Amino acid sequence: MRVLLIGSGGREDALAWALGASPLLTALYAAPGNGGICGRAACVDLAIDDHAAIIAFCQRERIDLAVIGPEAPLVAGLADDLAAAGIKAFGPSAAAAQLEGSKGFTKELCAAAGIPTAAYGWFDTREAALAYVATQPVPVVIKADGLAAGKGVTIAEDGESARQAVEAIFDGAFGAAGASVVIEECLVGEEASFFALSDGKTVLPLATAQDHKRAFDGDEGPNTGGMGAYSPAPVMTEALVAQTMREIVEPTVAALAARGTPYQGVLYAGLMITADGPKLIEYNVRFGDPECQVLVMRLKDDLLTLLKATADGVLDKVSVRWRNETALTVVMAAKGYPGDYDKDSEIGGVDLADADGDVEIFHAGTRRDGERLLAAGGRVLNVTALGSSVSEARDRAYAAVDMIDWPDGFCRRDIGWREIERERQEQ
Ligand code: AMP
Repeated sequence: MRVLLIGSGGREDALAWALGASPLLTALYAAPGNGGICGRAACVDLAIDDHAAIIAFCQRERIDLAVIGPEAPLVAGLADDLAAAGIKAFGPSAAAAQLEGSKGFTKELCAAAGIPTAAYGWFDTREAALAYVATQPVPVVIKADGLAAGKGVTIAEDGESARQAVEAIFDGAFGAAGASVVIEECLVGEEASFFALSDGKTVLPLATAQDHKRAFDGDEGPNTGGMGAYSPAPVMTEALVAQTMREIVEPTVAALAARGTPYQGVLYAGLMITADGPKLIEYNVRFGDPECQVLVMRLKDDLLTLLKATADGVLDKVSVRWRNETALTVVMAAKGYPGDYDKDSEIGGVDLADADGDVEIFHAGTRRDGERLLAAGGRVLNVTALGSSVSEARDRAYAAVDMIDWPDGFCRRDIGWREIERERQEQ
């Protein structure tokens, strides 16, 4: 198969790594790629919002499957445009990608299908939103409806901050993503991520993970795109996975099919494990970043076979197996991230750190300048390791981190702390 991978982050480097090992693969292209992906795939300089250029490339290179990594092109209808041109894509249509593109859409779907989630109101005027929020107990969660690169959510601890969060959204803090606002009950529990493939009819459960969103050790500091993750998430027992499939994921896929907008792609459910069972916090319509990095390390079966079966609508014909080990990834970011940071600092030692067979270093924001590897983004490397326990995976990952020579970078030193505490208590 000739495959085009769309995207340029650590998630896409992890997908490129797994696709590269597929016996089905004859050619792998990536657009636009990064300093790591371009070592695994032929990178082509296409803008991901230029659908016409992507279609022309796919036709010229006889691409059998386009794998769309990030959410923005999915919400913008890239999968629809490719389908209209006769090109198969892995990833949902714009209509189904509304699960991530509009938080209000998802809340309405959940309400109609009886899917457990936080109580909510959805408003497109400032006055109505302010009137509702004034009646809600605190803490209360205020969300811009649309895609806001993970920044559109405020957990307001008091009425005044809640009011300010609503005002900021209607003042344009998130642009078009803030045309309406969702106001939610604050759920209490432990968060976990659950991934499944859907071909529109059949849902194949994949695996679980947990991530660390805050920038600094001890879950302090500003929210980021994710500073580390591990899989599996032991909090997601087999019984909870079965309950999540039955009460949340399967009814969602059935509801979208019934509306005539079947969901084809990977469905990433952000869950709160509450005293009343799992509740949906949000859906994402793509693999998580950095969760994808830990999932591919644990995947025993061929990724391309799974993605192809999803796009072909034959998920009922495949199964999936996982390594029992834990995979853990540490994100190395440029100093200053998620605020302002410098680019173009040089990174050394990556090849040495990558030499351990249980370690893979995925590139999130790098570029090559001749022989030199340079930082080109906020999140820069994902140092990922397998181990027989979270502690072992953590030790291997940090041993590799310590071999990397990058004075301008930083990482959290406590990825996996919650599980490591649990492992310690069990001993
Ligand atoms: P989202 O962008 O919807 O994932 O929200 C970002 C983060 O805000 C989530 O990962 C949760 O930690 C938190 N969050 C969102 N909605 C809620 C909620 N209803 N109750 C508690 N925490 C929430």
